[in-house]
Amino acid sequence: MTKTHVFDVVIVGGGGAGLMAALYASQNVKTAVVSKLYPVRSHTGAAQGGIGAALGNLEEDRWEWHAYDTVKGSDYLGDQDAIEFMCEQAVQAVYDLEHYGLPFSRTKDGRIAQRPFGGHTNNETKKPVRRSCYAADRTGHMILQTLFQQCVKNETTFFNEFHVMDLIMQDGKVAGVVALELATGEIHIFRAKAVIFATGGHGRMWEITSNAYAYTGDGAAVVIRRGLPVEDMEFFQFHPTGIYKLGILITEAVRGEGGVLINDKGERFMEKYAPTIKDLASRDVVSRAIYLEVKEGRGINGSNFVYLDIRPDVVNSYAEKDGRTRPDGTPYRITTKEIADKIPDISDFCQTYLGVDPVTAPMPVQPTAHYAMGGIPTNIDGAVIQDVNGTVVPGLYAAGEGACVSVHGANRLGTNSLVDLVVFGKQAGIKAAAYAKQSDLAELPDDAEAFTHQQIQQLKTGSGKEKAAEIAQEMRAVMSDKVGVFRTEEGLRSAVEELKVLRKRFLDVRIQDSTPQFNMELLNTWELGNLLDLALITAKSALERKESRGAHAREDFNKRDDKNWMKHTLAWLKENDVELAYKPVKVTRFEPQERTY
Ligand SMILES: Cc1cc2nc3c(=O)[nH]c(=O)nc-3n(C[C@H](O)[C@H](O)[C@H](O)COP(=O)(O)OP(=O)(O)OC[C@H]3O[C@@H](n4cnc5c(N)ncnc54)[C@H](O)[C@@H]3O)c2cc1C
Repeated sequence: MTKTHVFDVVIVGGGGAGLMAALYASQNVKTAVVSKLYPVRSHTGAAQGGIGAALGNLEEDRWEWHAYDTVKGSDYLGDQDAIEFMCEQAVQAVYDLEHYGLPFSRTKDGRIAQRPFGGHTNNETKKPVRRSCYAADRTGHMILQTLFQQCVKNETTFFNEFHVMDLIMQDGKVAGVVALELATGEIHIFRAKAVIFATGGHGRMWEITSNAYAYTGDGAAVVIRRGLPVEDMEFFQFHPTGIYKLGILITEAVRGEGGVLINDKGERFMEKYAPTIKDLASRDVVSRAIYLEVKEGRGINGSNFVYLDIRPDVVNSYAEKDGRTRPDGTPYRITTKEIADKIPDISDFCQTYLGVDPVTAPMPVQPTAHYAMGGIPTNIDGAVIQDVNGTVVPGLYAAGEGACVSVHGANRLGTNSLVDLVVFGKQAGIKAAAYAKQSDLAELPDDAEAFTHQQIQQLKTGSGKEKAAEIAQEMRAVMSDKVGVFRTEEGLRSAVEELKVLRKRFLDVRIQDSTPQFNMELLNTWELGNLLDLALITAKSALERKESRGAHAREDFNKRDDKNWMKHTLAWLKENDVELAYKPVKVTRFEPQERTY
């Protein structure tokens, strides 16, 4: 039996972007959040390092510097109108979070504490600037708790553990979404005037990843099956410091606090790759440096990892060498206690997963698939666009990691995702509510649930010749080997072909569990289908982009090529193939330059 619900705005996803959208939409119209996870279990809760905003609490800073760093970090692929908007709004957004009750770490005089982070600089001295606002190493967790309680206070309606499997459209306009309720297996239709997708990323298509199990790109997959495009999928960020073999993230804040990367020869190798900013260079730069060190045999004991060292004596000796000072001008020195206070969760993870206490031993790390720069294309209002001319889909919005506005371009700076969530989550919430206020509810098509049933039926009636776990494993291997930190024409071409075969084999998967209640096998298999679709688009978009920019590094085209490639990719899934088109980058005040470090 299908249940039908009616709201003005329905938000898919209860993470930072979804909750921020809900908070603002629910102030004006009847709003629901439909989330496959209980909201505070969303991946935003894993964000450790902080949220970037030019508050200038500890030293001079300006939002324009933040904007320039973001444009440069994006390797000139970010849309500068959106970046300027984000960096300017970031300051107020952080104060709003403070006023909602977020327990930020504090300076001695009671202001919000800030620390340096990769790629964030004083544009005049070129030195790292303290811009990341943090709550110890639990910033994302605090954001979720704070926003969730505010949404509850605003009487947002929550449908938790409901998996959205389809978007309903009528005459080119949004009519709602269809979801499966985990506890009962029932199908629900959510009619809405406006829908916001805030479903997070898709890093589970790689072997080593920092991403939660839920990061399967559901929003993008649902949208592409309705004939809409995704943007810039070839750009996926590898964070340089995942725990060896596990991929669990060690925040950049460790390097912000003075941690250094060391190879098998005991060298601080980032001095070679980024002489000015060293260990705090952008993530793409540091990931490639680790890859090259390993390739040239300088991984620890010849293996494929390096050390991240935050032992106080090591940090202090490099800080002395660099002439690093505290805000009051005294030499920068760190104590064991300060490390324990500033990165408690990291110390805990290392002891739990590695048996290593970071104040007495270095941590083994390797690059880990971390963040999707690409996603559902939107304009600066969070409205989803459907072509290279920026035509919007009436009633459809997207925000957060699952969207591409694009403020991160080819490479995201640390702390800029949380800013993106709060700034554009808010924007999408406000704009969707305004749209809903002046629109009528679209009629439901007769077969509103048909495609959802068809997807479920397919998973239940496949021939059973293939196993989902094997296909998943093969997909991750292809993506890691051929669509990883470094890419080649040959590798990408074979990745595209292999992924096409995997997508065909996936049709022969049949799930074993037929119970309606809590059928995780059904949902996890459906999620694998989403990853396969997005993996194919990622590989194909990467194959066609014949240059190196940001996170997309081609061994065969190893330079950035602004003349031919300073443009965004839009990709449509067509049966078992991908169609691509390109749209220009918006440039306001920052002309492309070589990236120097
Ligand atoms: C380990 C880690 C550390 C990070 N640290 C930082 C940091 O310090 N600073 C920073 O700026 N960024 C950081 N990031 C990145 C940042 O945390 C994420 O990009 C961001 O939190 C994503 O927020 P979101 O709201 O888009 O998605 P999420 O918070 O993941 O929320 C997605 C929501 O969508 C829902 N959903 C998904 N699919 C469906 C479906 N089919 N039906 C219904 N609901 C669905 C989920 O239930 C969830 O509620 C980090 C990321 C990781 C993985």
